[in-house]
Amino acid sequence: MTVELLNTGSELLLGQTLNTHARFIGRRLADCGLRIARQTTVPDGPEIGAALAEAMSRATVIIVTGGLGPTSDDITRDVAAALLGRSLHFEPDIFERIRERFARRGLTPPERVKVQAMVPDGAEILPNDHGTAPGLYLVDESRPGPPKRLYLLPGPPRELNPMFESHVLPRLRAMAGPPLPIRILRTIGIPESHLQDRIEGPLRSQFPDVEIGYCARPGEVDLRLIGRDAGLVARAEEFAARDLGDAVYGTGDDTLEQVVVRLASSAGLRLACAESCTGGHLADRLTGVPGASAVFLGAAVVYANEEKTRQLGVPPELIARHGAVSAEVAAAMAEGCLRRTGADHAIALTGVAGPGPGTPEKPAGLCFIAHASARGARVERLTLPPDRPAFKEAAAQVALDILRRALMLCARGAEKSC
Ligand code: AMP
Ligand code: MG
Repeated sequence: MTVELLNTGSELLLGQTLNTHARFIGRRLADCGLRIARQTTVPDGPEIGAALAEAMSRATVIIVTGGLGPTSDDITRDVAAALLGRSLHFEPDIFERIRERFARRGLTPPERVKVQAMVPDGAEILPNDHGTAPGLYLVDESRPGPPKRLYLLPGPPRELNPMFESHVLPRLRAMAGPPLPIRILRTIGIPESHLQDRIEGPLRSQFPDVEIGYCARPGEVDLRLIGRDAGLVARAEEFAARDLGDAVYGTGDDTLEQVVVRLASSAGLRLACAESCTGGHLADRLTGVPGASAVFLGAAVVYANEEKTRQLGVPPELIARHGAVSAEVAAAMAEGCLRRTGADHAIALTGVAGPGPGTPEKPAGLCFIAHASARGARVERLTLPPDRPAFKEAAAQVALDILRRALMLCARGAEKSC
């Protein structure tokens, strides 16, 4: 069974709408052992017909999204019917449901909406509980070879997602093999190419049947392992995890902040942070984790020098002598944060976020991150991307990793005072 996905919609190619269907459908299919062999995006218009004909020449299951609406650019249903040599007929039940939806809002449906009640002969109707256009399922057995199965689904994600879940996935699952064993190791601190150099040779020689993939995201890299046999993939994962050690912060859907909150919770440790250049972004990520309240005391967003002094007790002379972006001030911020909040671990960030050039001694992208605990403070000097959003993301990422490593040391009992 070869599956192709055809996403239609000019807005997807104009960069106005992110193609979330590819992600959603790809992921849900992978969960039940199926992979999208090819995904194509085409604008509204005649391209849809050409792309659909091509997809049908290769695949046995073709999922088409978008273009089932009532406007003139919604031509998917007509194109599919023409390609399969089917006529369209009016389904009064569908129209009645559309009429009821309009009536609930005190409206009568405009004439054009009637096209949504037009159905290619022989199509099965996939009910739409969240909109007017139903999905359509067509099986074409008119050509030599296995039947071609065509799913036409509506564009709006809030309509497509539940329809896919309840009416498409069960049909495909029944035809699929066992779930595709996929394991993902989430790593931090090793650049993508280094990760490959380090792990790929040993993995390939030990597990030649496991497919290896990488996905670099800001400040981290996923190592993806796919195979036919779940036991084999699990052993490959274990092997890679052992080799990569602390660089692996989690698996599957873990996020760095979740791991930090989990480690702090299980050790009964409390965290706080003092943020200058990240303006609260680190606190935002931590508080995005359910259960963060058990471990996270709070954050001081201390952008101005006076606030570093007022909220954290950083001596003004220290700032005057070393500058706000300095190892000394970062350490004083972390220590002040630890003292004033009573946390077990405090982290502080100060840096030059850019995009301006900064100064030769303190260029944009320079960042100091300090960690303080009962054992004292340690500071890291980093050179991060000098554009603001990337800088903030990277700084928060490194800060979380510093916390993670400190908490892991505590968990191993290496730091008596934890
Ligand atoms: P349509 O039914 O094609 O007119 O699409 C209606 C709505 O669904 C529009 O707001 C589109 O931007 C949205 N939409 C269509 N395709 C996608 C897609 N692949 N990912 C996310 N949104 C989409
Ligand atoms: Mg459209």
